[in-house]
Amino acid sequence: MQKHSQVFMQGEGELFQLVRNFDWDDSAIGPISLWPSALQIALNNLLHSPLPGLLLWGTEFVQIYNDAFVAIVMESRDHPQAFGKPVKDSSTEITNLVLPYCQQVQRSGIGVLVHGESFGATTRKSLSLISCSPVFDDAGANPGILVTVFETTDENSDKTRLLASESRLHFALNAGGLGEWDLDLATFHLNASKNCKLNFGQPTNVPFSYSSLRAAIHPDDRDYQEAEVIKAIQTGTNLDIEYRVVFPDESVRWVNIRGQVEYDDQKNPKRIIGISVDITHQKNNEAKMLESKENFRHLAEQLRLSKEAAELGTFDLNLLTGELHWDDRCRILFGTTHSGPVTYEKDFVLGLHPEDRERILRVIDNTFNKSVSNGDYDVEYRTVGTSDGVIRWVRAKGKAYFDSTDRPVRFIGSVLDVTEKTMAIQRIEALVEARTQELALVNDDLVKTNMELKRSNANLEEFAHAASHDLKEPIRKIRVFTSQLKTQLGALLGENETHAFARIENATVRMGNLIDDLLLYSHVSQRSHEKENIDLNEKVRQALVDLDLNLEEKKAVVNVSPLPIVKGHRRQLQQLFQNLISNAVKYSKQNESPVIDIDSVDIEKDGLKFHLIRVTDNGIGFEQQYEEKIFRMFSRLHGSDKYGGTGVGLSIVKKIVENHDGRISVTSEPGKGSRFEILLPY
Ligand code: ADP
Repeated sequence: MQKHSQVFMQGEGELFQLVRNFDWDDSAIGPISLWPSALQIALNNLLHSPLPGLLLWGTEFVQIYNDAFVAIVMESRDHPQAFGKPVKDSSTEITNLVLPYCQQVQRSGIGVLVHGESFGATTRKSLSLISCSPVFDDAGANPGILVTVFETTDENSDKTRLLASESRLHFALNAGGLGEWDLDLATFHLNASKNCKLNFGQPTNVPFSYSSLRAAIHPDDRDYQEAEVIKAIQTGTNLDIEYRVVFPDESVRWVNIRGQVEYDDQKNPKRIIGISVDITHQKNNEAKMLESKENFRHLAEQLRLSKEAAELGTFDLNLLTGELHWDDRCRILFGTTHSGPVTYEKDFVLGLHPEDRERILRVIDNTFNKSVSNGDYDVEYRTVGTSDGVIRWVRAKGKAYFDSTDRPVRFIGSVLDVTEKTMAIQRIEALVEARTQELALVNDDLVKTNMELKRSNANLEEFAHAASHDLKEPIRKIRVFTSQLKTQLGALLGENETHAFARIENATVRMGNLIDDLLLYSHVSQRSHEKENIDLNEKVRQALVDLDLNLEEKKAVVNVSPLPIVKGHRRQLQQLFQNLISNAVKYSKQNESPVIDIDSVDIEKDGLKFHLIRVTDNGIGFEQQYEEKIFRMFSRLHGSDKYGGTGVGLSIVKKIVENHDGRISVTSEPGKGSRFEILLPY
């Protein structure tokens, strides 16, 4: 007896693998490698055939059959003892049945077809057709018979059903990427299907031994795998383990191994049969799930913390069951004292401040109407504590959720205590209201005062106009009569009287001037005519003509740069230059001829354009602190003994500038001169 695997040790490819697990006595047939090639081909076909097939070889009729033959035709007790044995040593039911036909075929060299029925009660009902055909060798001899069994329609047979379901199972296992394996516990010989090998990253065309399987397991999982297998063997429990497998390319995959231990009659473990499946994808998903679960837990924790930090309460109303849930904070905000379940009607609706109730219930109605609010809810209302009666201001934000028919099913949201904020706002609002009222009163007073001021100003201006106008005549008369009296008295006048006459004349002139200036001021103050385009170059020129003698006397130099054309009042603008130039000449230094520069630049201020007109002199100047004072009526900085004047000139200038919506300012320093700057709108 020789192990057939040893016969094929030299390697015969797949054929070797297919039959390597069977032992037979090849003394009768010799090593397969020495068989005629036709027979080798027949054997190859037989072993690959999905049809149940049996090869009876040589004069002894040595039996070689395929898996399908084992599964469909043989009794399990016959296999594997019959494999490779001559019929006489180990006949099976089927060989007994077909042997006479095979002997006939061997003799005649002609194949026969045997109908199952002809075997009577002993044959299986499912086997209705058996083909016995000769296998010729190269020399034309007929050393073997190939028996093929065709199943027919007797599908009611248990065996057929079993086989059908078994083949379906194989198919299903295959389709599901499931591998099948069978580990002999006596020899530790592993029989693994193609899928099983693939699950372990093994090539499918070479045997997969148990030691290779162990080597493929991730080093960290090997002990666990071994312990589990031992446990299953010892306890008889099903094996169901998951472990990592390291593929030849070093990638790591997960497999799930399930198996069942089979015991012999003496309860000794015989083998474990099971399946293998790649669960890498599932494991990765599990890891991802775990990660997202963890993330979710963190998020929930963060939410809880921020909710606590923000002192937010939450509510959750199930609109299908009417169940309302409030957290502790929410209960506090409604001043709920009982600890039982809360209800919409008793706790929420009645907890609303009576003045806010109707409004809020209306808002909630709208919230539950998807087309109106899209389920959004954002309100502020007061609650009244049911037992403590405390009024709290609450800001509530939430969302209603709808089913596919837009029916509201759930209403969830949060509530925040805004009592302090609302109170503070109310206090501020009250304060602002009070201040506004006070201001309005003050404003009223101001308006009144302003109107009174305007009225009295107008009256004053009217009076000044009337007075100066009316005073002009008596002054003129004083001057005329004084002159006549002086002439009449002639030589009779002594030195003192002549001096007294001179002082009267002087005072009269001064008074006349004052009246003239006042008259001028009142003219300027009166509502003037329409403005027109005025060429300032022209106005300066005329002013210089009027001041001609004065300038000449003081040897004044006047430099005039081009000036703009502005909208204004002709006479007033000329007066403006006249007053400024005459002051520049009047307040010049004694030992230095006056130099007066008049120029203009365009500037932009607060987005508006202006003409900036400057009149600069090199005169005696004054302390900057008097910059406002000099524009007041009758204000004079310099003594009248040295510098004649009325103190009205700059008041007139200021009034003219204001009439032209402008502003005037001055910079000066004693001994260094002054610069008057006039801003006129562009
Ligand atoms: P007054 O008739 O006295 O000149 P104004 O109203 O024209 O009256 O001027 C008021 C005062 O401002 C003057 O008395 C003088 O002291 C001062 N002042 C006006 N212009 C100049 C100037 N260019 N330089 C120095 N001081 C001036």
